[in-house]
Amino acid sequence: MSNEMTINEARSMDLVGGAYPIEHVKAQVQMVQHLMKEIMHEGTHYGKIPGCGDKPALFKGGAEKLGFTFRLLPTFDVQLIDMGNGHREYRIKCVLNHGPSGQIVGEGVGSCSTMESKYRWRNAGRKCPECGKEGTIIKGKADYGGGWICFAKKGGCGGKWNDGEKSIESQEQGKVENPDIADQYNTCLKMAKKRAHVDAMITSTAASDIFTQDIEDFDFSSFRPVAAKVIVEKPATATEKHIKHFHEQSEEEGYCRYISAVDSALVRVGMPLEDLVAIVERSRAAMDKDLEKADSGPHKDKDKEQAPPPVEEEDPKSPSMFEEE
Ligand SMILES: [Zn+2]
Repeated sequence: MSNEMTINEARSMDLVGGAYPIEHVKAQVQMVQHLMKEIMHEGTHYGKIPGCGDKPALFKGGAEKLGFTFRLLPTFDVQLIDMGNGHREYRIKCVLNHGPSGQIVGEGVGSCSTMESKYRWRNAGRKCPECGKEGTIIKGKADYGGGWICFAKKGGCGGKWNDGEKSIESQEQGKVENPDIADQYNTCLKMAKKRAHVDAMITSTAASDIFTQDIEDFDFSSFRPVAAKVIVEKPATATEKHIKHFHEQSEEEGYCRYISAVDSALVRVGMPLEDLVAIVERSRAAMDKDLEKADSGPHKDKDKEQAPPPVEEEDPKSPSMFEEE
């Protein structure tokens, strides 16, 4: 214990000695901002998280642009953990080297496991109690008396049930264990790699700070230059500093709103540090899931916006309207 204290003290002294001059920090901040304005695109390289303030999160594409600009070359150290029942966890450490000098400028960690909900479960539709088909059950429109229908247009048998039908409503939707979990290994590995890379890039370039504020009102006291990145390898429990960092980071990266109630109740000084890391990963995963949805979403939405107005508004007698009826 006392050993640990000494190490921490030594580290904090190092920080003062190794701090960058303010001009250096400013230049780095400006460079990232310039990059953001000129080269990065919102939605592709970074994006705002709905409901989480105006703080955009850095996406993989943005991390790559930062890496290219600052000439930071990532190397990945992959650790595979067998979780049993075919499940795996990948823990990846990403080390960033400054290309020209070869100097290590920072590192990040990322993990992903097939136990994460998006890999563990497959999205199952409701099964028809009559014909046994899956994904054919739809909710009847309230105008037509509600209830449930085994929709013929989806290949169903046309069966109808009232609201409250237990054989339908008791079915758990979207919560079926994925029978082919091995199919997820590669996706999971890539996800862990992406997380480690983005994490490394954010901490090494202070991009997360920059993405949250304009240069004019940038608070330099909150800036954490590379030299100030303290990589705490092994203390078993979370200190006040960890918790504070956790909250700041969750705000900055935008996963704050994805921390589940159960997890958020666990976050406190003295909790196992590994658990804290796990909470970060879970919340990030939840956020990633949302982001991926958003990633594929906006393009479609844009197309819709640019599409001509619906035919029926222009020509109410369009035959397609009546064909449907
Ligand atoms: Zn049916």
